Amino acid sequence: MIATTLLPVAATRPGDATPADLERRYGAANYHPLPVTLQRGAGVWLFDTAGRRHLDMMSAYSAVSFGHGHPALVRVLTEQAERLAVTSRAFHTDRLGPFLRAVCETTGMAKALPMNTGAEAVETAVKAARKWAYKVKRVPEGRAEIIVAAGNFAGRTTTIIGFSSEAQYRDGFGPFAPGFVSVPFGDAGALEAAITSNTAAFLVEPIQGEAGIIVPPAGYLARAREICTRHGILLICDEVQTGLGRTGAVLACDHEGIRPDGLVLGKALGGGLLPVSAFLATEEVMAQFTPGDHGSTFGGNPLAAAVGEAALDLLVRERLSERARVRGDELLAKLRAIDHPGVVEVRGKGLLIGVEIDPAFASARAVCEGLLARGVLSKDTHGTVVRFAPPLVVESEHVDLAVEALAETLRSLDRRVA
Ligand SMILES: *Cc1c(COP(=O)(O)O)cnc(C)c1O
Repeated sequence: MIATTLLPVAATRPGDATPADLERRYGAANYHPLPVTLQRGAGVWLFDTAGRRHLDMMSAYSAVSFGHGHPALVRVLTEQAERLAVTSRAFHTDRLGPFLRAVCETTGMAKALPMNTGAEAVETAVKAARKWAYKVKRVPEGRAEIIVAAGNFAGRTTTIIGFSSEAQYRDGFGPFAPGFVSVPFGDAGALEAAITSNTAAFLVEPIQGEAGIIVPPAGYLARAREICTRHGILLICDEVQTGLGRTGAVLACDHEGIRPDGLVLGKALGGGLLPVSAFLATEEVMAQFTPGDHGSTFGGNPLAAAVGEAALDLLVRERLSERARVRGDELLAKLRAIDHPGVVEVRGKGLLIGVEIDPAFASARAVCEGLLARGVLSKDTHGTVVRFAPPLVVESEHVDLAVEALAETLRSLDRRVA
């Protein structure tokens, strides 16, 4: 609607370089986009400046779980924007309380602290865990440790990249904050062995997204829950990517029937329209924050709260978790049925699926370029994995289209090899 009339006019001038040229000319080169310039989105579809239609198999790393421009969410966004958008937390608004209740009731957590990006909510979790360790567990000042899993991705702030195991995320950005200990992902024994009297928390993604859709052994989270409880440390799950229906349950934690002490949500919480994140916790953990301890200019603003509440409502009303489970099983089975030697593994849960490509056959980037040529948009992760993580509103016909595009791409790369 609005986007189709405003965007092209604002983006280019007659005789100008292309918008992509302008990005290259005026932007930092911290991304390497595929050669397509998007202009409009509707549901599972994205449209480029040439008017070509593409199936979105990325959904902005799960941020667009509800599909592009969901009418109910756009209505809430525009109505709230006209009424009241940003006030700061110096005042109550009529939107924040209902949003906090909705996010707590949806997840079964006691309290929520709203932020904007996922990284900010993870930072909030780190602060909460440390203060809890000092004030409740009586860890000596400055000694609190947080255990993380190798391969983690929790955002790009300096503290967070400090506990990343990815060399490129760290290279040239140190010095890093101390207080983090890394253990192999999926290994509950290694977690238990790393716990000391100074351990505050174990921070973990139930499925590692950016690492390449790494699914841990069944029972891992349940064992981590038991170990954390027994040793008196907090279990904090980073569900920024896995949360809100993506894996076929409201939370990926639900698959193992556990509740963490701290929970991080983001991405889809903003309904694909704006950044909304939250740190959720038990009463005891959240009680560590007192006025002035922590904050955010935009966190919990009425616009974000209204859209977040509407997104949570939609998650339930459109049965998106169940649809992600059914459609995810279907997509997983059909991708596995391609059975091509260039595919090392197809793995995932719900609609969070990774296809690992044999690097001797082709780069994941080359596969993504082949998909793009066939009207399917995805992005490689770590050079070898192609993500299949569409909006959760995807239908069977879209699944078939994506699978056929991958099969054709692999065949075309066969011909190149031959
Ligand atoms: C994307 C992501 C984040 C960071 O979110 P941003 O909004 O990009 O800061 C944190 N944790 C996980 C698991 C993520 O996938």
